[in-house]
Amino acid sequence: MNNDTIAAISTGMASGGIGIIRISGPKAIALCDRIFIRNKNNKESDGFLSKAAANTINFGFIYDRDADEILDEVLVSVFRAPHTYTREDICEINCHGGLYVIRRILDLVISSGARPAEPGEFTKRAFLNGRIDLSEAEAVMDTISSTNDFALKNAVSELSGRLSSEIRKVREEVLHETAFIEAALDDPEHYSLNGYPAELDEIISSWEETLSRLSKSFDEGQHRKNGILTVIAGKPNVGKSSLYNLLTGTDRAIVTDVPGTTRDTLEEDITLGDFTLRLIDTAGIHETEDTVEKIGVERSINGIERAELVLFVTDAYNGMDEEDEKIFSLIGDKKCVIIRNKNDLFPDEAVMLDGVLLGSALKDTNFKVCDFSAKTGEGLDELKKIISDLFFTTDSFLSDEIFITNERQKYEIDSAISALSLVKQSILDGMTEDFFSSDLMDAYSHLGKILGEEVEDDLVDKIFKDFCMGK
Ligand code: GDP
Repeated sequence: MNNDTIAAISTGMASGGIGIIRISGPKAIALCDRIFIRNKNNKESDGFLSKAAANTINFGFIYDRDADEILDEVLVSVFRAPHTYTREDICEINCHGGLYVIRRILDLVISSGARPAEPGEFTKRAFLNGRIDLSEAEAVMDTISSTNDFALKNAVSELSGRLSSEIRKVREEVLHETAFIEAALDDPEHYSLNGYPAELDEIISSWEETLSRLSKSFDEGQHRKNGILTVIAGKPNVGKSSLYNLLTGTDRAIVTDVPGTTRDTLEEDITLGDFTLRLIDTAGIHETEDTVEKIGVERSINGIERAELVLFVTDAYNGMDEEDEKIFSLIGDKKCVIIRNKNDLFPDEAVMLDGVLLGSALKDTNFKVCDFSAKTGEGLDELKKIISDLFFTTDSFLSDEIFITNERQKYEIDSAISALSLVKQSILDGMTEDFFSSDLMDAYSHLGKILGEEVEDDLVDKIFKDFCMGK
């Protein structure tokens, strides 16, 4: 249990309608009392908050005694340990949302005896004080950083402990079997190990099934959560920038700039319903038509190499030519949608000048063809469905599955699976039961690390350092 009292702005470092300063620790309430008055005309502190019931919101003013200045009219929420986010006493000062006033109040809170909180320190305390486990703490961060429906739904499900409970269940069973082996070895008269290896082998298979499912969900979860690294490729004039504009302009798309890895490429996140495309913009194709730098074969190479998905735009009206073929040959075994654009120009005719190329592409399950018009938007729903089918096995809205989206968790799950396969190998090799225990305990320990048991302090520090301030 920490003895110091921490404080931070919890509403972000920008001005807004309201601002919240959160204070947690043994002195939280007494400290607030010192700077809180209920009546502008009576500046004596009357210890009102210390007497306030838990979970109440109290109206008053923040008063800087040294400067004899009322800083703001506020609402102070009082939460009492242990029924709080951190399990410590917490006060939240709800003030006006200007950054200057929030900072003044925070400074006053700190000069009154609180210490500035480190990033994620409130959640870290919730973890250290046993209110949540480590995977639930990670889910808090995932919830905050969610950029699409899937990521949010998955994070909230993890937050409610669904992953933890699956892991905990397997882990307890592992412990149970280990204890049984130990007991039987100690006391062979009462516990028989006759036929036990075969039985254990079967039990391990069921654990492996659960853990493998979680491990396999990682790639899909990563794509769902972080988006699919996508490039729009094609020769000049086929409609790449039109497609780009259409995608970024769809009413459900949320476009955010993220810094790219090279100097002249940008990445932009486009959220399309329940998944996100991280578009590699290889040559500023979203610029206006006049300034468009037409992408040639060379410029596409870098983008295609990095991408996980290629949206290969072709001009279906004019058909494909050698230049298309050249770009097409760069795509290799990447997942690709061949977009036969400008479909609106021949609504009634099936123009199929590109039969050979499409024919070979269609045999490959990584390639899909989509008739499209960047001008009218026709084909957009089909395109979304194709991308979804290429990358996702489940419909995230219908599915109740849990997805691992965290590399640390995946590593521990895979390590547990490896340890369990060693036990299976020992069974196969006809080893005696005492050989099973150490690998079983190894699996037990890896699963514990997902929940935050048996993890080293510096790992805990590292995890919480990535949190945002005030959480
Ligand atoms: P880029 O060079 O590949 O980026 O191609 P642009 O997006 O600049 O498009 C080239 C030309 O084709 C422009 O005049 C667009 O208006 C036109 N265009 C793009 N997509 C379509 C489409 O689906 N239908 C029609 N009719 N014209 C399109």
